[in-house]
Amino acid sequence: MNPLSLRTKLISLVTLILVAGFVATNVLNYEVSKGALRTTILENELPLSSNNIYSAIQADLLRPIFISSMMANDTFVHDWVLDGENDPARMVRYLTQMRQTYNATTAYFISGASQRYYHYDGVGQVLNEANPADGWFFAARDMKEPYAVNVDFNYQIDGNITIFINYRVTDAQGNFIGVTGVGLGLKSVSNLVKAYQEEFRRNVYFVDDSGLIRVHAEPKMAGKTNIHDIDGLGAIADDVLSRPRGSHTYTTKGEKILLTTRYIPELKWHLFIELPEFEALKDIKRGFIRSLLIGPMVILITILLIAYTINIFQRRLEDMAITDKLTGLYNREHFDLSLTQAIKRFNRDKRPFSLLMLDIDHFKPINDEFGHLAGDAVIRGTADIVRAAARESDLLCRWGGEEFIILASDCTAKDAQRLSDAIRDAMRAAKFFPDAPDRTVTISVGVSEVRPGDDEIIMIGRADQAMYAAKEKGRDRTETL
Ligand code: GH3
Ligand code: MG
Ligand code: MG
Repeated sequence: MNPLSLRTKLISLVTLILVAGFVATNVLNYEVSKGALRTTILENELPLSSNNIYSAIQADLLRPIFISSMMANDTFVHDWVLDGENDPARMVRYLTQMRQTYNATTAYFISGASQRYYHYDGVGQVLNEANPADGWFFAARDMKEPYAVNVDFNYQIDGNITIFINYRVTDAQGNFIGVTGVGLGLKSVSNLVKAYQEEFRRNVYFVDDSGLIRVHAEPKMAGKTNIHDIDGLGAIADDVLSRPRGSHTYTTKGEKILLTTRYIPELKWHLFIELPEFEALKDIKRGFIRSLLIGPMVILITILLIAYTINIFQRRLEDMAITDKLTGLYNREHFDLSLTQAIKRFNRDKRPFSLLMLDIDHFKPINDEFGHLAGDAVIRGTADIVRAAARESDLLCRWGGEEFIILASDCTAKDAQRLSDAIRDAMRAAKFFPDAPDRTVTISVGVSEVRPGDDEIIMIGRADQAMYAAKEKGRDRTETL
């Protein structure tokens, strides 16, 4: 197989595995985080918010209940009623003072006997049992509990929820003599609700048992919208309202909403806290996108490293395939290719080149005398001498055992002879054997210059013949054919 296509295939496969693995883990991770986050929000965060709001409600209620109870037990109130409600101005003064002292929205007293409404601002009308708007008074009159909590809808006016504590006033014998109380803003509740809405993008509102929204950040919702009529929420409204606490999800206008509800018995309302899922997922979406950007960079670097490594090993393999191990010169296969190209080039540009066939003289006795390893060292040393004498543009090759061939470009037979003589001089001067410093090694060289019409076999044959001629003529010679 073509090594290039193998490399392309390998890199493609690795890229595919990395990309698929990366995408799969990221998507899986995102889905898992999404699910975990949804559970955390529904089971921990939203219920915690509702606990906080409930605690604030309970804390906010303590003060008005305490003030109303104080008023209900005030001897002035009792005496004033028993005196026959004379001098209403005194009662009005008393209520004004209570309102001021406790910083209440209002302070009021309704006499059980006359059913007249007194408040900090003056004397009001007589309440009528037939009027539904006055029903709270008659309900308070007939109830068993000492007080009732009523909530006002004026949240939309000043952003505050105002509650009224209607406290029953009884004389020493326990007979009902009136209802008194104050109206007070649920300040910390309002602040908490606002904080949740603004900082945490949560939607906080109160719903009564019928599903009517009683307090909502949007004025047009409060007192007007019933959750049964809200798209998506309507379908689960009955289920939601039947539970004291619950976590739900619904989809409205294509948006998934996470909802926690909790019944607040003091107000007889349900507290609803909602978070649109996309708000909750913003952070992990950002993380998901970030890792989507980083991942391809990691993959790219990995692929580049793999390609680089493959290239290095491929080049090393290619080098090994054309190099002789012992000498580092080119091998015969590579020489054959180069010679073919050189002949083609000569046929085009007619520039001369020559072959030099080198054979070490009497090599067999060297092996016999000094051993094969010493023989190898002589072959290596000869290669070094050839390398040093030849030009950069010459192609040097180990032809066989102790035979070398040089393809010398831009080189006539005369030039080749000069090169050959230089190599032979260097050989004669070289000391190959430390134990026998006087022992010299010589070579015989056959030269052939390229001729028109030559092919590889003819040209090598001439060089070979010339080399044998040199041997015959006594060795350590250069012959040309
Ligand atoms: P001549 O002068 O006629 O060339 O004599 P020679 O002894 O060199 O004869 P020939 O060229 O026929 O012998 C080559 C010998 O080189 C034969 C073989 O044992 C030895 N030889 C071949 N390759 C290697 C090698 O890689 N290492 C070693 N140490 N010896 C080798
Ligand atoms: Mg030989
Ligand atoms: Mg030889």
